[in-house]
Amino acid sequence: MQRKRVAILGAGISGLATAWYLRQSHLPVDIVLLEKSSRCGGWLHTDYTTGFHFEKGPRTFKVDKCPSTMCLIAELGLQQEVIWSEAKPHHRYLWHNEELRCFPTNPLSFFLSPLTKGFIRALLTEWKQPVKNMDETVWEFVLRRFNYDVARLFFDPMVVGIFGGDIRKISVRACFPLLKRWEEEYGSVTKGFFAHQRQKRKGAKTSSDIPGMPLSAIFSFKGGMEQLSQTLLNRVDVQLHCQQEVKALQREASHFVIHTEKEDLSVDAVFCALPIRETGGLLQPHLPDLAKELFKVPSQSLAIVNVGYDERVLPFEGFGYLTSTYSNEDILGVVFDSSVFPEHNRMGKETRLTIKIEDLGQNEDRCIDAALKGIRRHLGISRTPNAVNFKRAPLAIPQYGVGHLDKMKELSFQLEQKFPQCYLVGNYLQGVSVDSCIARAKETVQRFLLREAARKTPVA
Ligand SMILES: Cc1cc2nc3c(=O)[nH]c(=O)nc-3n(C[C@H](O)[C@H](O)[C@H](O)COP(=O)(O)OP(=O)(O)OC[C@H]3O[C@@H](n4cnc5c(N)ncnc54)[C@H](O)[C@@H]3O)c2cc1C
Repeated sequence: MQRKRVAILGAGISGLATAWYLRQSHLPVDIVLLEKSSRCGGWLHTDYTTGFHFEKGPRTFKVDKCPSTMCLIAELGLQQEVIWSEAKPHHRYLWHNEELRCFPTNPLSFFLSPLTKGFIRALLTEWKQPVKNMDETVWEFVLRRFNYDVARLFFDPMVVGIFGGDIRKISVRACFPLLKRWEEEYGSVTKGFFAHQRQKRKGAKTSSDIPGMPLSAIFSFKGGMEQLSQTLLNRVDVQLHCQQEVKALQREASHFVIHTEKEDLSVDAVFCALPIRETGGLLQPHLPDLAKELFKVPSQSLAIVNVGYDERVLPFEGFGYLTSTYSNEDILGVVFDSSVFPEHNRMGKETRLTIKIEDLGQNEDRCIDAALKGIRRHLGISRTPNAVNFKRAPLAIPQYGVGHLDKMKELSFQLEQKFPQCYLVGNYLQGVSVDSCIARAKETVQRFLLREAARKTPVA
């Protein structure tokens, strides 16, 4: 069988997972992996340069929300490297009315907490007719099904914390698909929630990929998040070209020519795993309308400040806290890393925190200053940290507006029709999470394999 030459553009988790699934297929392919920077892994970035274990990108996964990641871990034989933390003892807090309030963890606190008071009222009203087959913003959905307090006190901080986004702009179907499904299937989110809880009580409590690991657990790896991307990189047989920015893509009769800053490469198929804007830039000369749609998708920029102390400075343990847009804080959220994964502590009684702030172009010193002032006010930590690490994440989180999922599906389809053998993977297509990127990579490779099989099957 003739060997194919395939290029993967970008060595973030999307590109690396694509390489893994191509290799798993045993198709005779030579894979060229082109990466602009000097390191692989994209946003998965664990840093030890200060002596502390700091995560500059993603830091936790939740077992029941990560089926594709769990499957990949099992395929890679990484089970022994996983560390996990039961989700329940890790209380989450909200900065509300100038104090940190714990999100309820049991039915009694749910009834008594000011953060969930809107839900109690909604129990009486959340029985309206469901609206089916329609997308809307999270804000509109929550106001329609619940009320203003639920939107403001519960969903607004979640949207800020997870997507760094605006509850009034992002799509409920894309960002909270389970809520929309409960409305459509059960006629009410409340009914769907209780049905889901009943199923959870009856179903398995632990993961089928890692025996004994609770489905409610959050996890990382002994070597941090980057261990996942590094393991992928070590296990895939690819020709890796780091520090080679892809500049242009050209379609010839039966192949593609990829122009990088150093060379031109001729390949049979391309998997583009670049961020959305870079992807738009490559496609613009050939498919301007499609590129225009990609450019229209806004992305949120974040700044990450990791701080480390050589002693315990947190007033209480927990997962961390969020703020909301109405509290007008510089800080979007703080994760108590040393409390969540003490396995990563390197000096016994240390404290490690990650502080997320919106990147509005302030200089580094101002961002760090805002982060330190924030934790002083919220947590009473006034000590100067022993280590500070700063990273910008420009345009890192694509914002899924109303109708985004359908639009991206349509664009991917159009691309594969007009530009056969060019495939899109990445965090702007069917979910921003690492798990969604892995799932997308796997599905896309399967589509490619089906096409390959169809091409080889002789027509009768
Ligand atoms: C601060 C932060 C925290 C996050 N936290 C979580 C979390 O807790 N859980 C979770 O599931 N997700 C989280 N996410 C989201 C998740 O990490 C990302 O969506 C995901 O890692 C994106 O992976 P990717 O491979 O699609 O893109 P990227 O990681 O952006 O990779 C793209 C790669 O392409 C390269 N590249 C760019 N342009 C070119 C070019 N022209 N030529 C060659 N190479 C190029 C880049 O250098 C990069 O390596 C977080 C993201 C950020 C920024």
